[in-house]
Amino acid sequence: MIADAHTHNQFSCEGIISTSPERFNPLPGKVYSVGLHPWLTAGIADHSIEQLRRILKFPEVVAVGETGIDKMKGAPIEIQEKIFLQHIELSEETKKPLIIHEVKAAGQILAIHRQIKPKMPWIRHGFRGNAQTARMYYSKGIYLSIGEKFNPEAVKSIPESLLLLETDESPLTITEIARKAATARQTTTEALLALSASNISTILKLSDSTI
Ligand SMILES: [Zn+2]
Repeated sequence: MIADAHTHNQFSCEGIISTSPERFNPLPGKVYSVGLHPWLTAGIADHSIEQLRRILKFPEVVAVGETGIDKMKGAPIEIQEKIFLQHIELSEETKKPLIIHEVKAAGQILAIHRQIKPKMPWIRHGFRGNAQTARMYYSKGIYLSIGEKFNPEAVKSIPESLLLLETDESPLTITEIARKAATARQTTTEALLALSASNISTILKLSDSTI
C-alpha cells in the first residue's frame, strides 16, 4: 500500500521515492518520482532534460518531480520557470502526474496551471499554507500533500478527494504524520492513511502508471 505521496527515504516501501536523474538507481518493488529539484536548476544543461525524459519511461517511475518554483532558494526565477515548464511537458507527454515544490510562488504556479490546463494530476507537496491558499489549489483540482508541519485549519478544509500525506525528509513515519493530521481533521489515523493510499492509487490509475 502506497500511502506516502512523497519521500526522500530511498528505502521506503510505502512511498513514492523522490530522486534526481543522476541518483536514479531503482530497487526492486519500489516506485519513484524523478525530476530536477528547483534548488538545483542553476546551470542545468539540455542533456539533463534528455536524461530525465529517458528515465521517465521506466515503469517504476510513476511521477515527474519534484519540480516547481522556489522564490527563496535556487536559480533565478526565469530559469526555475523554464525548467518547471519542461517538467509539465514531460508529465503530459509520459502521462505521469507532477509533484510540485513551491515556496512563495502559489500565484505563479496557479497562473501556469490556468494557462496550460494540464490533463495530468498535479500534487502540491509539503503544503504548509493557510486555508485560503489551500482553497486556491484544491478549487483547481490540485492535490495537496501534507507532511510533518502544517496549518491545522488548512488541513481541515481540504476536500477528501484531494488530500494526500507525505514524509518528505521528516524523521517521522507516515503513520505518525497521519496521526498528527488526523487530529486536525478529527478523524482516525487509519482512516487518513487509507484515504491517502486510495487517492494515490486513483492518481496513478489516471496516469499510465501502475503499481
Ligand atoms: Zn521533497
